[in-house]
Amino acid sequence: MTGRPLPRCADEELGFGTVITDHMLKIEWNVERGWNHPMILPSGPVGLHPFAHVFHYAVECYEGMKAYVDNNGSVRLFRPEMNMQRFRVSAKRMSLPDFDGEQLLKCIETLVDIDKDWIPKQRGYSMYLRPVIFSTTPWLGLTQCAEAMILVLCCPVGPYFKSGFVPIKLSVDSKYIRAWPGGTGNVKSGGNYGPTVISQAAATANGASQSLFVYDKHEYVTEAGTMNIFFLIRNEQGVKQLITPSLKDGTILPGVTRQSVIELSQQWNECETVEKMIPFAEIKAAFERGDVLEIFGTGTAAVIQPINGIVYEGKEYKPVVPFDDSMLQVRLTNFLIGVQYGDIDHPWSHVVPPSTTWSKPM
Ligand SMILES: *Cc1c(COP(=O)(O)O)cnc(C)c1O
Repeated sequence: MTGRPLPRCADEELGFGTVITDHMLKIEWNVERGWNHPMILPSGPVGLHPFAHVFHYAVECYEGMKAYVDNNGSVRLFRPEMNMQRFRVSAKRMSLPDFDGEQLLKCIETLVDIDKDWIPKQRGYSMYLRPVIFSTTPWLGLTQCAEAMILVLCCPVGPYFKSGFVPIKLSVDSKYIRAWPGGTGNVKSGGNYGPTVISQAAATANGASQSLFVYDKHEYVTEAGTMNIFFLIRNEQGVKQLITPSLKDGTILPGVTRQSVIELSQQWNECETVEKMIPFAEIKAAFERGDVLEIFGTGTAAVIQPINGIVYEGKEYKPVVPFDDSMLQVRLTNFLIGVQYGDIDHPWSHVVPPSTTWSKPM
């Protein structure tokens, strides 16, 4: 363990991903030897060859998950095997080397256990975990990957919104396309994210805080910034449906929160749960009929993000249901948070076994 602990700040001052914990996990790979021994090191700079593929060709992908402390002081992860599975799928799409997801999860558990004192105890607080894999292949030729590295970094984080459940507005971006069929929208690869920063500025200019990405002449709805999107609507036949874009065309990131919301909605059976291609015109028509009841985004960072307006071609469209605790999205949030913090006993919550091997400084 590190002899030089890093600076901490009061929980209330935590932003998103600004404070790194004392330790990080590092695993190196090369094509001849395969994966090297995992190492847990003091967090700090990583030296790479200036030709490393990640710098020039964005050969990388990442994950996002959280560790929570429950009332008994145990550390919990939420469906972490889904993150490991997705990480492997992303790595494969980026021609990065495969790895054993269960073994990586064990390494992550060890890291989380070592730095568990960094996890804020208050409700709404947690420790965000950022696994990343990238090609360190040290030449400029765009070849198959010859060298790679996995890092897992941890940062204590506060509630996404300090003042509670605050709805945001979206602006439909018909100019910049986030993802398209045959592209990489369904994997968490850095190249999908950097190019969306410009769209963020346009959303702000429209008085919104995130872009709603669409593509094609049908303006199929894809995602809300870096969240999956859900609409609770009454369809033209008056049937209540929770709809979200389907994963079929490869433009949608298969969110763990998205999947969890779909499974809960199916179990609760208050409405039909539908995954399908959604032309924006269909949503616009539902708005015009007064049939859009609720809108929300989903993702690990915010869990559920209420959305109370969508700006399209200069006009703002709003859901008809006023915000209150009986809303589907509020009940989904309470359930998911209850599972994540271990208040609700549920197989989705994974208790990190405490390790004894790491208790003495090394
Ligand atoms: C990470 C991510 C999500 C949410 O996935 P979760 O597993 O729920 O955190 C949604 N959309 C995009 C584009 C993402 O990168």
